[in-house]
Amino acid sequence: MNQHTCKECGNQFKWSNIFKNIWEAYKPLKCNHCDKKHKVTNKSQIFVSLLIIVPMLIFGELFYALSLFPKIILMLIVGFCISLFVPFIVRYRLEPNKS
Ligand SMILES: [Zn+2]
Repeated sequence: MNQHTCKECGNQFKWSNIFKNIWEAYKPLKCNHCDKKHKVTNKSQIFVSLLIIVPMLIFGELFYALSLFPKIILMLIVGFCISLFVPFIVRYRLEPNKS
């Protein structure tokens, strides 16, 4: 498990901020101390997507007897539970200044 700190000032990011950021489709995470933006690395994005989607599909298959709606709810719950651990897995890098 890795702690996420700002690459610029060492400020520690909160788990809740990272979690929110992931559900916002990896919007750059801004350090609330120095305002530097951090982006999830491409490798992490792919890894996390697979980590969430594959078990969701497997669960969808396991409960094939369910009708579509409960199945989707179940798959979302599975995806959500997995995403709780994602903040410990993802890696961030500093986003280059676009100015
Ligand atoms: Zn910072």
